[in-house]
Amino acid sequence: MKLLQSIYHLNRLKRRLTWPEERLHDLRCQKLTVLLNYCYSHSPYYREQFDKIGAKPEDFRSPEDLCDFPVLDKERLRDRGEKLLDPNADRSQWLRYRSSGSTGIPLELWYLPTERLRMGYTVTREMLYNGLKPWHSMVNITEPRHAAAKDRWYHRLGVMNEQFLSVYDQADLNLGRLAEIKPQLLIGFPSVLMLIGRELQQKGGLNWRPKLLFTLAEVLTAEDRKFLSQAWGVEPIDLYGANEVGHLAFQCSKRNGYHVNTDSVHVELIENGKPVASGQRGEIVVTNFDLRVMPMVRYRVGDIAAWSDQPCGCGCTFPLLKAIAGRSDGFIIGEGGKVYSALEVSLLLKPVTEMLQYRLLQIAENSLTIEVVPASDDRIFIDQINKILRDRLGQSMSIEVDLVKEIPREKSGKIRSVVSTLPHPFWRE
Ligand SMILES: [Zn+2]
Repeated sequence: MKLLQSIYHLNRLKRRLTWPEERLHDLRCQKLTVLLNYCYSHSPYYREQFDKIGAKPEDFRSPEDLCDFPVLDKERLRDRGEKLLDPNADRSQWLRYRSSGSTGIPLELWYLPTERLRMGYTVTREMLYNGLKPWHSMVNITEPRHAAAKDRWYHRLGVMNEQFLSVYDQADLNLGRLAEIKPQLLIGFPSVLMLIGRELQQKGGLNWRPKLLFTLAEVLTAEDRKFLSQAWGVEPIDLYGANEVGHLAFQCSKRNGYHVNTDSVHVELIENGKPVASGQRGEIVVTNFDLRVMPMVRYRVGDIAAWSDQPCGCGCTFPLLKAIAGRSDGFIIGEGGKVYSALEVSLLLKPVTEMLQYRLLQIAENSLTIEVVPASDDRIFIDQINKILRDRLGQSMSIEVDLVKEIPREKSGKIRSVVSTLPHPFWRE
């Protein structure tokens, strides 16, 4: 029964991809009204924001009206997250998700299982639109799910034939497993797929290739795309999302840009508080229409994008973003010149709860500095970080923890959690 429900729901979601603009607009306005009414009556943080600007939910009739509502940034979400939640809610069913902060700002997020499932459906829709068939076998290379049972919803994409490999396993080990499973669809971080792809090239290729290659969680640069296409024999399709707000946008087979999931999110691009003109770069600010436990209204994701004014020829009516800049984490070099995905290293720091923000800096092989804005006077986390990073990168690595008062944003407004001045391990720039 559950399977039939999933198929029905996914088909319903898929049909929206070609809805006419007016119909989408009506749906978005309806969803916005329900969301803002919920926020006003249940969320102390949002109630305060409404009061601050002297507004009521009914003052926002369409998502475009939101431009007057205060923006929520990561630091505020980290410091005031509890205030977003309904103090009278029954929390017994809630799921807690600790975000590692691929931007260096760890966050505690809360969802209902149904909200996680809905996020999974959105990703599955993106893949169905790009050629996923229900009978395809799929491998998702991600954080290990056994780490915490509660995290499971996030990784389940609602695909029947889905198997998981761990980002923490060595590239050659994962390559061996892939050669056995021979999945038709492969999904993972660009950096991790590049490391396995390099292994694949060194071994002289495989007698199997995935039909579809999906990337997510990091920016896919033009060079990464070229490398992945060569290594895997198929051009990647990139998906864009964030734990806080769900999946935001996806590439289609034309790869002209990223279609925004406009039925579930409202995306704004702003500069100095004002919307940017088409073609101009602006900071991505997102409102998710469907989240209730931890509602996200005008959340500043920390990435940069521009609107495309070219219509896409694929038939999808969802608006198009041009290339997205942001979370381009790259690689960390460990003991003996071994290459690790920087995102994978960031994810390892998830259990370290005493950090308000951090940034990994690598300026020499065999050493890594981590700048930390500590959450309290407790310093036990320094040993914890040392152990985690040495266990992963090698015992001879010199790990230095620098306590700092703040980690500034880059000029563009982006937050980067990893900065490396070493030459790119895949090509010299
Ligand atoms: Zn398209």
